[in-house]
Amino acid sequence: MKKVLILSLIALMILSINIGANAKEGGIQQYNLPNLGHAKYSVEKALDFSVYASESVEEQQETKSEEQVPADEEQAPADEEQALINPEQQDTSELDYDKPVVALTFDDGPSKYTPEILEVLRENNSKATFFVVGSSVNKYKDTLNQIINEGNEIGNHTYNHKDLTTVTDEELYKQVKGTDDLIYSATGYTPAIMRPPYGASDDELNKKILKPVIKWSVDTRDWENRNTEMIVNEILENVQDGDIVLMHDLYESTAEAAKIVIPELVERGYQLVTVSEMSEYRGISLTEGEQFYNMYIN
Ligand SMILES: [Zn+2]
Repeated sequence: MKKVLILSLIALMILSINIGANAKEGGIQQYNLPNLGHAKYSVEKALDFSVYASESVEEQQETKSEEQVPADEEQAPADEEQALINPEQQDTSELDYDKPVVALTFDDGPSKYTPEILEVLRENNSKATFFVVGSSVNKYKDTLNQIINEGNEIGNHTYNHKDLTTVTDEELYKQVKGTDDLIYSATGYTPAIMRPPYGASDDELNKKILKPVIKWSVDTRDWENRNTEMIVNEILENVQDGDIVLMHDLYESTAEAAKIVIPELVERGYQLVTVSEMSEYRGISLTEGEQFYNMYIN
């Protein structure tokens, strides 16, 4: 008799699991409300990213190509659905169409230097774009929210700075979607744009990234020179209307350069805008799967 009861219980359990599975595949997309603590926990758990939780890019860095920071771990898939929330609707109405625009971009952060860069942006009524790594999201949650609340843009820069040309499609998905999920859990915002580490991608890879791929037209090589004067000179000697400038908010020398170059560019008549703002200003649509090095007029 007991045996029958146990078998019935097992049958009942199997049945309810099936019902659950069917309900999930029922076709209606589920949009989770941002239950921050829990969502973050489950995303991290699903991805098994917790093992690197405290390992910022800063601590892992190693020189390679234009940037640094490899890491060779593996992650498990993330399959949570999430609401796609656009950034604060970019308001380009205040921009002066007679004046040139430049998009400063800061990769690999956030770090302890990011707030210094945000401060100088704020003081100069300027905006920038921060391509962040998923591995630093939880440590710098407040900074991420500050980035967005002050009208700047966040872009996706993978979870742990993988060279995406070397990974499987599954790993690519995890690196991009997993980082989106972490950023969403921390801020309620999902990045609209992506920059592959080292700028390493080709047409085929860009298509798989499923976001507009943003590269750059001015490379300060700040990760290599760590020299404020060199960074400032590289920008001021080369900058032109429609440039996308590559920097990294991991270094004191870069933060110091930002303090010089931001007011100077404003003084020279440049409007410092986010990548998305610049695309609107230029009437260029940021199409997913395509890459953008600059937004020159022609
Ligand atoms: Zn990078």
